[in-house]
Amino acid sequence: MKIDAISIFPEFFDVLGLSLLGKAQDQKIIGFEAHDLRKWTSDRHRTVDDSPYGGGAGMVMKPEPWGDAFDEIIPKDQRPTLIFTTPAGIPFTQKLAAELAAKSHLVFACGRYEGIDQRVVEHASGQAEVLEVSIGDYVLNGGEVAAIAMIEAICRLIPGVIGNAESLSEESHNSGLLEYPSYTKPASWRGLEVPEILLSGHHAEIEKWRKDQSLSRTKVNRPDLLAE
Ligand code: SAM
Repeated sequence: MKIDAISIFPEFFDVLGLSLLGKAQDQKIIGFEAHDLRKWTSDRHRTVDDSPYGGGAGMVMKPEPWGDAFDEIIPKDQRPTLIFTTPAGIPFTQKLAAELAAKSHLVFACGRYEGIDQRVVEHASGQAEVLEVSIGDYVLNGGEVAAIAMIEAICRLIPGVIGNAESLSEESHNSGLLEYPSYTKPASWRGLEVPEILLSGHHAEIEKWRKDQSLSRTKVNRPDLLAE
């Protein structure tokens, strides 16, 4: 999979060179490139923002650098998926991560200030499959951290990125429930014991216990998931 990210702070994406995603890049499973939006500015100050039409607080990202960036990054004969990071977008979920993991080219547009001139989103839909996506009901300073979170969630679903692919199927949000609690050695630690059932060797019983734990944890922490 090819992934491009456009930002005024491309250095944020250096973290993608670490750990499993770094390895996946070395193995050419993922090809990642971060681009500096200011490359597509033309004035001396490399300006990317201006005051909002209609008034109001803050600045808005100008359309011209974004349009020029997409013209260069998006191949004319292809239609990649272009993700605008925004708290006003559709929620990023495990289901969406799985859908995006099957794509061959993703482009992330990372906003700053009060966001990007909306005409950029409109215009880009002629060049790409456009999604406006939020990683949660809170506001970050910029889209870089949101894009990194999405890239990590998406890439770990690409075959070959995670060593033990089996571990993916039991995780939280895969079945619509949260995962059961996990334990490792030692069996006794600071007066706290690992639940006895996990030491019993009875696989069917362990599975039942885990299912019950999954359900009760979901009921307490995320009742909204059970309602769904
Ligand atoms: N004025 C915008 C609003 O109220 O919807 C918030 C702008 S925010 C300060 C700056 C940038 O951070 C956004 O353009 C977006 O790229 C990114 N951002 C902030 N929160 C986000 C979230 N929850 N999910 C995805 N991106 C987010």
